[in-house]
Amino acid sequence: MKKEFKESIKRAVNDANLTGALGKFSEAYKVNRAKAYEGIDFEELRGRIAGIKSEAACDLDALAESFKKKAESLGAKVYRTCDPQEVKDYILRVAREGGVKSVVKSKSMATEEIHLNAHLLKNGISVAETDLGEWIIQLAGQAPSHMVMPAIHMTKEEVAELFSKEVDERLSTDIPRLVQVARGELRPKFLGADMGISGGNIAVAETGSIVLVTNEGNARLVTTLPRIHIALVGVEKLVERFDSVAPILEALPRSATAQLLTSYVSIISGPTRNDDGSQKELHIILMDNRRTEMARDPKFKQALQCIRCGSCLNVCPIFRLVGGHVFGGIYTGGIGTILTAWFDELKKSEDIQGLCIQCGNCKQVCPGKIDIPEMIMEIRRRLVLEQGQSLAQKAIFGVVNNRKLFHSMLRAASVAAKPFTSGKFIRHLPLFLSDLTEGRSLPAIAAEPFRDTFKKIKQPRLKEKVAFYAGCLIDFAYPEMGVALVKLLNKAGIEVIFPEEQTCCGAPALYNGAYEVAAHNAVENIQVLLKEEVAHVISACPTCTVALAHDFGNTLETLGQSEWLPQAKKLSEKTIDFATLVKRLVDEGRLSFKEGELLGKITYHDSCHLKRTLNVFEEPRELLQKAGYQVSEMFECDMCCGMGGSYSMKLPEISAPILQRKLSNIKETGAPMVAMDCPGCVMQIRGGLDQDGSQIRVKHTVELLVDRLQD
Ligand code: SF4
Ligand code: SF4
Repeated sequence: MKKEFKESIKRAVNDANLTGALGKFSEAYKVNRAKAYEGIDFEELRGRIAGIKSEAACDLDALAESFKKKAESLGAKVYRTCDPQEVKDYILRVAREGGVKSVVKSKSMATEEIHLNAHLLKNGISVAETDLGEWIIQLAGQAPSHMVMPAIHMTKEEVAELFSKEVDERLSTDIPRLVQVARGELRPKFLGADMGISGGNIAVAETGSIVLVTNEGNARLVTTLPRIHIALVGVEKLVERFDSVAPILEALPRSATAQLLTSYVSIISGPTRNDDGSQKELHIILMDNRRTEMARDPKFKQALQCIRCGSCLNVCPIFRLVGGHVFGGIYTGGIGTILTAWFDELKKSEDIQGLCIQCGNCKQVCPGKIDIPEMIMEIRRRLVLEQGQSLAQKAIFGVVNNRKLFHSMLRAASVAAKPFTSGKFIRHLPLFLSDLTEGRSLPAIAAEPFRDTFKKIKQPRLKEKVAFYAGCLIDFAYPEMGVALVKLLNKAGIEVIFPEEQTCCGAPALYNGAYEVAAHNAVENIQVLLKEEVAHVISACPTCTVALAHDFGNTLETLGQSEWLPQAKKLSEKTIDFATLVKRLVDEGRLSFKEGELLGKITYHDSCHLKRTLNVFEEPRELLQKAGYQVSEMFECDMCCGMGGSYSMKLPEISAPILQRKLSNIKETGAPMVAMDCPGCVMQIRGGLDQDGSQIRVKHTVELLVDRLQD
């Protein structure tokens, strides 16, 4: 990561105005969005939208042709091009031919994408943005920070300051007054403009119409007052039929601003008339800029299902902390990273792809059903293919790929870290390692790893067997979690086997784009874990569970190593997470907890992989309640804790404030204990509370349940 990029992150994180405004907005958004979707089957709706958009993406050429034919029959001129420069040339040509001196615009990300304003200004044409947010950032000389709310990063004080300069009058922060000023300034611009430029939210091939969704009414003035209207529309906005508009309109305002419908929905089918009855000029530009190339790429085609609602930004823990400008381009957040890699170039996404912590929040709310984190992983893979791994990564993954060396180094580290270890924690590290213990203590490496302890556990010989995949953290930092798991399963009449040759699940390599390394880890683990006939392969780490159940197969498939796919599938079918298996055992009456004792309040943190990839969140809560705890929910219980595997080490500037937010939410519940099902989250949250001097205890659910088993 470049130094300047890191500096821009630090500046953003330390900008209290920015983090305050975005934090408050995202908290309110979640509640309001849920209200807006009340009574609507979101999964069904987004399934329909994804179907419509995916079908359209398969046939963009034909749809563009039908659209052109129909729109031209209504009097519009339709121009289609791949090249952004040709778009700018076309608009300039139309402007020159029409004697255009001034342009008014309504919000359009496509015009931002090609930097149209600068081009027109350079050629002597004045341009006024008329969407309030766009006008604010135009006055500030900035790019939009959010695709729906371009000036969301600015406070009302900053806006008042800008407007004061513009009208040469000292203005207060009174919002109605500021809006009145904007209206007063923009009205004459509408009336005097020769050309209006808009975008288009949907383009319907069947009717040749473009649909515009706005809240301020400015788009209606832009598209009807000037004698020339140009609509710049990305080809991904094409849909085949008019009845496809309804589901998109049902989701777009709800997802974008938590509104049931925007104030204005305009459908433009052909040009309107001037006051004297003559026809205005309507030009519709269908811009490609690598969109059809994207549609042909099986890994990225899904990105064309985007309806540009921005909800992925609103729920992203990183976006709400750093805002949009850190992303450096026009499109921001997770989807912005993908669009930047395509519309600019892959290299431009080199730094920003690293911002994604892979929490999956965006995927959960996306009305286009787009797997944004998966595509960001693919960007990482392609970057590694193009540029190779860094020397540091090569060295680290070289060790991880050699199980014996890796495990011996972990054992050696347990001794080497002794001078810095105090009880169960490493609180300070020297020199260049000191950042690692900034704001969070690290766990001491266990004197005896789980793999050694396991040999000493006396288990009954039982018919039913499961294989335990411990993962590096339980094996080398928290062996007590593994011991608890064995005891608990024995109690249910299940014998645990621990295949000793198991190795790292490959997640650290995979999340850094090193797919070859991850595939090597996958094959080693598949062989080892399928060696013995067992009912299940259980893991108490959600990241490892996801690796075994999903990532192994996906990685091998991506790399074309199809010979391993049947075994990867078999392992996937056998893999189960701890909470799901234990809940099943309790339901079957094979496990029960002591009754009659009330253990008091506890709060629960959902780890990202368990909640959003494995869809497990009710089970641990139910188990804790059955064991005697009263679960008191914390605010944003399923928001990432900032761990993200190696993320917390690569980007402590971001990880630390996310952790702090999580710690405050835990403390606010007043619960003396917080439970979770992920050893990575335990490491992050326990370490954070330790540095904080807090008495709140942090436990993996397995440790709490084992103590409550019925004798
Ligand atoms: S990726 Fe999904 S959530 Fe993000 S803007 Fe597009 S449609 Fe909306
Ligand atoms: S996965 Fe999480 S961090 Fe990554 S873009 Fe989506 S919401 Fe943001």
